[in-house]
Amino acid sequence: MKYCFGVDIGGTTVKMGLFEETGAILEKWEIPTNTLAEGKAILPDIAFSLVGKIEEKKLEKEDILGIGVGVPAPVTAEGVVNGSANLGWKYKEVKKEMEELTGLKAFIGNDANVAALGEMWKGGGAGEKNMIMVTLGTGVGGGVIIDGKMLVGCNGAGGEIGHICVNYEEKDCCGCGNRGCLEQYASATGIVRLAKQKLETEKRETMLNKEKITAKDVFDAVKAGDEVADEIAVSFGKYLGYGLANLAAVVNPAVFVIGGGVSKAGEVLLSYIEKPYKERAFFADKNVRFVLAQLGNDAGICGAVKLVLDERGK
Ligand code: ZN
Repeated sequence: MKYCFGVDIGGTTVKMGLFEETGAILEKWEIPTNTLAEGKAILPDIAFSLVGKIEEKKLEKEDILGIGVGVPAPVTAEGVVNGSANLGWKYKEVKKEMEELTGLKAFIGNDANVAALGEMWKGGGAGEKNMIMVTLGTGVGGGVIIDGKMLVGCNGAGGEIGHICVNYEEKDCCGCGNRGCLEQYASATGIVRLAKQKLETEKRETMLNKEKITAKDVFDAVKAGDEVADEIAVSFGKYLGYGLANLAAVVNPAVFVIGGGVSKAGEVLLSYIEKPYKERAFFADKNVRFVLAQLGNDAGICGAVKLVLDERGK
């Protein structure tokens, strides 16, 4: 039996998993992310933990096919990161450093792209080769899988769905410095922003309290039949649905996999996205399926392992 490690580096914890090459998860664990001193301890900490696991399980290095790593930053095809705000990294040759630290082959990808690969392998996109994953969290992340492979792009910034422009008239700035980015309407913070704008002038009775509101409150109120919340969700769905229709015209995916904290609202969320999507999608893209992500926090480590299995022979 051969094994793989999947690693998902986040701003506060690093998630790790030991997998059989069949894809079965044997063990999962986490270590804290030490972002002090430009995050210089992060890769050595990971290497120490992985080498310790090899010893604990009495495995041979020859039995390990490789380490897959998801990083919260654009990652080039060569495994190089040019700065990660979450980790404190500047220029870092992640693949080279990981291989030197562990003596194992390493394969690196952007965390959202890697999570998309995981969902295609064992989650909401299982059985498909062309899919777009949309992660609705604090921001809007994404991963585009074309013919079974992650779209990486020349700087590693492929699949940054959150920053396509969906409103040319927007006055407020996105975190990236542009205006009108999808993230300003479809992330958890974006939904709260839409809700606050609406409640500013709203006269009708509503369960929502503009002083204290979350994206979850909006969808809970939707489920309870709140008319104002419904209109906020319609507005959210229109930005996202139209944006995804534009993406579909380029990618022609079989399925959209919707994940992230906001997707915990469940199937009701999909209906708000699918309706406007169908209104604007090119005729040949209208039958695209919308599904919820299934792997939750394991998508990253699963996709990292898939990256090893796909790339190791090349
Ligand atoms: Zn932006």
